[in-house]
This record gives sequence, C-alpha cells and structure tokens, in this order.
Amino acid sequence: MNSNTPNHQTTFDVIIIGTGVSGLIAAGQIQRAGRSVFMLDKGRGLGGRLASRRIGAATFDHGAQFITTRDARFEAILKQAAEAGMTAEWCQGFSATADGHTRWRGRPAMTAFAKHLAQGLTIQMETQVVAVKPIDHGYSIETTSGDHYTALSILLTPPVPQALTLLAAGQITLDTIMQSRLEAIQYERCIAVMAVLDRPSSIPPPGALLPPSGPISWIADNQLKGISSEPAVTIHANHEFSLAHWDVDRMQSGQLLLDAAKHWLGAEVLSYQVHGWRYSKPMQVDADPCVLLQASPPLVIAGDAFAGPRVEGAALSGFAAAETLLAQLSHS
Ligand SMILES: Cc1cc2nc3c(=O)[nH]c(=O)nc-3n(C[C@H](O)[C@H](O)[C@H](O)COP(=O)(O)OP(=O)(O)OC[C@H]3O[C@@H](n4cnc5c(N)ncnc54)[C@H](O)[C@@H]3O)c2cc1C
Repeated sequence: MNSNTPNHQTTFDVIIIGTGVSGLIAAGQIQRAGRSVFMLDKGRGLGGRLASRRIGAATFDHGAQFITTRDARFEAILKQAAEAGMTAEWCQGFSATADGHTRWRGRPAMTAFAKHLAQGLTIQMETQVVAVKPIDHGYSIETTSGDHYTALSILLTPPVPQALTLLAAGQITLDTIMQSRLEAIQYERCIAVMAVLDRPSSIPPPGALLPPSGPISWIADNQLKGISSEPAVTIHANHEFSLAHWDVDRMQSGQLLLDAAKHWLGAEVLSYQVHGWRYSKPMQVDADPCVLLQASPPLVIAGDAFAGPRVEGAALSGFAAAETLLAQLSHS
C-alpha cells in the first residue's frame, strides 16, 4: 500500500470510495489494466467489515469470521495470500454444519487479507467522503476536511444507504426506479462483544458455534482459531437483539450477551469491548453484481449487496465493477 497523499491537481482514471474487499479487488484489477486508481476510506484500518482488534495480548476478529469461496478467481487470490503468509485454512465447517468446505481465516488475523489485497495501491485512510459531484468529463469528491479530488469515473463501495447519501449530497439524482431499487436494500445489525477470558473457553474445536436459539448468532474462540495467544472470544448478537438494543449502553448490551454465553465461556471474563455494526449483512441482494448508475462519465456502485452477503460476494462484485469501469473508460 502506498499511503502518500496524492497531488490534489491529479485527475485519476478511477476514485474508489471504500477499502473493503469489493473496493480492494476492483482497484487491483483496474490498476493491473493500466489505469490510475486512488482509494479513500473513512476508517483507521483497511478492510471495512474485515476487522480485527487487540485487547492487551488478545486478538479478535470482530467482523467477518471466515471466508469461503466457490469462485476460481477468488480462490486463486486466497491461495496467493496463503503463500504470502496472509491467510490460512481454519477448518472445514462447524460441528453440525461441517460440510468439508474450507473456511479461510486471515493470518495473523482477518485484516491481513485486506493488507495483502492493498499491496501496491494508492490509499488514503481516515478520509471521509461527504459528496460526489459531477464536473465536466468526470467527478469531484469532497471530504470532511474540505479537500477535493477529481477522477474520470467513480466506484462507490460503502453500504448502499451510505453511498446514496453521498450522491444526494452532490446533487446526483437517479431515476425513480433505480432509487427505489437501491433504497430497498436493508442491512442486518450486529452487536459484537470481544471478551478476554482467564482460561480457555468451553467452545470445542475447531472453535466456533452457531447457537440454535437465543440472542447469539455466533460465538468463536479466537485462540482455537489460531489468531490469539490469549483466551479471547467473539460473540455476535443476532439482528433482532442488535436492533432492539441498538440505543442501549453498549457495555450493558455486551453484559447481557456475556450472560447468555456463560455456558460456552466456562471461564471468567477479565475485560471486554463492544462494537456495533449498523450495516452488518445485506438482507436483500440486488439482481446484478454491480450497477452502472451513469454511463458517461462512469459511476458504478458495488459491494456485498450486489453479489452475495459475504466476503466472496464483495469480491465478485469488485471483479464485476472493474470490468464495467474498464469497458466504459475504453469507450470514452
Ligand atoms: C459481524 C459480521 C460478521 C460477518 N461474518 C462473515 C463471515 O463469517 N463470512 C463472510 O464471508 N462474510 C461475513 N460478513 C460479511 C462480510 O464482512 C462483508 O460481506 C464484506 O466484508 C463486505 O465488503 P464490502 O467491500 O462490500 O463492504 P465494506 O467492508 O463495508 O467496505 C466499505 C468501506 O467503505 C468505507 N466507507 C463508507 N462510507 C465512507 C465514506 N463516506 N467515505 C470514505 N469511506 C467510506 C467503510 O469505512 C468501509 O471500509 C460479516 C459481516 C459482519 C459485520
């Protein structure tokens, strides 16, 4: 990753908003095709919903937990990352749902896969875009600090409601059918708890469970997973619990989830943190793997809401977005 701040006078072929998997995959494809790409993200760390955190010596994945693939192109990328030491095979499934299909993890943790994808790309983090505006032969994007960057084309990869806000702020109007199609995409919420334990948890190998009832949709032992040297458990609440407790104090909601998980913890909690994912997984997936919102100058929207509510879906949407943008740029 090249984190140099680009010259504000430069007009890029493509600006990509978002360094999640969809944006990173698209950026790699577009840059390898010889086009200039600049990426911006409001977050501190690369990867969007591929997120890892440390609490003392404990390491947690608190967003996406594992990666699966059935697509040969994406599988090749996961294998390249494994050769580079940035991904590893975790297991072939979890207890009753074990199906022999590989679950990949990041190495040392999930964000390593994003770092692998980001190699050689020009990326500026901690930069929130507030508007995408049309200009002659392209677009200008404006950030919270008042900076402007210009490009011949734009790829939007934030969750769809956030992407629509950026277009509205830049006075870009979509036709009513497209606007309603995109507004129909809603996301599940997820309250995630990261707990450091005083001894190994009672979760059996390979280190994760999907409780059939109650507020918890997923509980994982990051030590058994192979990413934490200390006992460390990630708990994900289901959408119903997360929505009902969204405005409740996060530590209070976290304690309720820890109480619900007591049986699987089998240990004392030394400390915990809580993260809320407002846009966790799309509840509806659009019919197309990405959408060309405007042909000239090209404006494309992509992400997991377009090719499947998982990391692989985001990657497939990134491939589709790169193909669409490259085709449009070759016509202009
Ligand atoms: C709790 C949880 C568990 C999950 N578990 C799994 C799993 O086990 N397996 C699986 O395959 N998938 C899982 N997923 C889903 C998976 O993480 C996503 O499908 C995938 O990572 C989405 O990638 P993306 O590129 O579409 O979006 P994102 O990763 O959300 O990337 C969008 C990026 O846009 C940035 N952004 C947004 N607005 C702006 C702005 N205004 N300016 C600048 N940047 C902006 C964000 O900071 C973000 O980095 C999980 C998700 C969550 C939250």
